[in-house]
Amino acid sequence: MKDKPIVVLGGGISGLSAALELLKNGKKVVILEREKEAGGMARTINESDYYLDFAPHAYHSTDPEFLKEIFSLIGDELEERSKDVRINFRGKYFLYPLKARDLALNMNPLLTLSALTDFIFAFPKRKSRLDRSSEDWLVNRFGRTLYEIFFGPYSAKVWGVPLSCLSPEFAAHRIPYPNLWNIIKNSLIRKKDTNDTHPYAPLVKKLFYPRKGAGRLPKKMQEEILKNGGEILLGYEAKSIEILGNKVVRVKGEREGKEITLSPESVIFTIPLPEISKMLSPSPGKKIADLAKKLRFRDMVILSLIVKGRPVLSAQSIYYTNKLFNRLSEINLYGGIEMVPPECSLLTLEMTCAEGDYLWNMEDDLLLGEILPYLEEEGILSKEDIVFHKKMRLKNAYPIYLRDYEEVMGGILSYLEGIDNLRLCGRQGFFKYIDMDLCWKSGKELALNILHGGSRIPLKELTYQERLFF
Ligand SMILES: Cc1cc2nc3c(=O)[nH]c(=O)nc-3n(C[C@H](O)[C@H](O)[C@H](O)COP(=O)(O)OP(=O)(O)OC[C@H]3O[C@@H](n4cnc5c(N)ncnc54)[C@H](O)[C@@H]3O)c2cc1C
Repeated sequence: MKDKPIVVLGGGISGLSAALELLKNGKKVVILEREKEAGGMARTINESDYYLDFAPHAYHSTDPEFLKEIFSLIGDELEERSKDVRINFRGKYFLYPLKARDLALNMNPLLTLSALTDFIFAFPKRKSRLDRSSEDWLVNRFGRTLYEIFFGPYSAKVWGVPLSCLSPEFAAHRIPYPNLWNIIKNSLIRKKDTNDTHPYAPLVKKLFYPRKGAGRLPKKMQEEILKNGGEILLGYEAKSIEILGNKVVRVKGEREGKEITLSPESVIFTIPLPEISKMLSPSPGKKIADLAKKLRFRDMVILSLIVKGRPVLSAQSIYYTNKLFNRLSEINLYGGIEMVPPECSLLTLEMTCAEGDYLWNMEDDLLLGEILPYLEEEGILSKEDIVFHKKMRLKNAYPIYLRDYEEVMGGILSYLEGIDNLRLCGRQGFFKYIDMDLCWKSGKELALNILHGGSRIPLKELTYQERLFF
């Protein structure tokens, strides 16, 4: 008899990666995915013959294993580009990561002097000061001026909470901290940028994008899963995880009122972690439910615009510190060149929000009406250029690292450790702000862990890679 299946909850990159590795090693796998398509946040949707992504989803990584995998699956579909982003700050456009020469030339001289003085004074003290929050982390490294004029307001808009409420770990992982000496050196000497190194932080500069949208990778992974005998139940929402003793014995899912029951060998949980307390049966109790409620996500709406002309923007993405939207991007500049007709461009505008708030509920036309005047004013486009628009919703887009989140996670994880065959995985399952490469890795490592016991790397400690701030 072929064994009981390993049941994977959620068919995003993490779940697909775990499933594929298990199948290649002879395991039986069933994936339950709530949406009608797999791919999660990295999927591409087809709407009126246009391909739309949930904002740009570029494949960038320093992990040779991940790069080898994406090339073996969709290598001939990938376009390669160098990362090229700007920040619109007080109406002016700046290179990002910030360059001292660019700042000095374009910013108000008094403000530049104040920011620079603060930054230089903060530099020697950065290690000796206590970081209790992301605000502390930033002020201790960049000085108060840059924090007040830039990081503070932008982050409050994106996260919906001040940086003083966020754990220092958040800033440490998301914000490249430039070395003062490198800034001075790179500002004085015009050093030629190499293709894959960054002057201030070991960031990935090279990126890859499938011509027909980021979702090509999960689509291909899905095909491989089916070829290897895996089962993907689309449109099925996982509803309950039943425990007997210290094991999961049953998982129940539902599609349009129709229930399905599976008896798993083990369960891989890649859906948002806070859901777990509602799904476990018997219930883990009030303490765990209360902890789960403390893990918060930021939701997002994305306005996709198909616009006449190509290219429309001067960079792949522009970040805005004081507009309704956080980032304006042109997907064809990332390499998604076959998502809309060649005479058009695909723009996306990202707005963080909370499910049910006014942005979340606003009708598509009203949202476009809110944004259009600014785009017209800046000469980016006019109403007549827009051939199609669609508002897309993305729940649980970003985990919010509130100051006590590590303690909260610790409480939940120690409870779950008591269930032998239930394993967490991926961005949502781990409540970890990781990108697609690390999601893929977390799935693969977990599969290897299940297959061979032990782990090549401690799964809870998947290293973050330094990323651009936003
Ligand atoms: C705006 C934005 C831009 C990004 N850009 C990049 C980028 O450029 N490069 C990069 O590498 N990464 C990027 N990321 C991160 C990337 O999207 C994620 O790291 C990755 O897609 C997460 O994969 P996952 O499988 O862990 O989670 P998800 O993709 O969220 O997958 C979880 C799956 O679980 C399903 N699910 C939820 N509840 C249930 C249930 N009860 N039953 C069954 N199924 C359920 C969901 O439908 C979903 O398919 C970006 C993220 C965002 C929000």
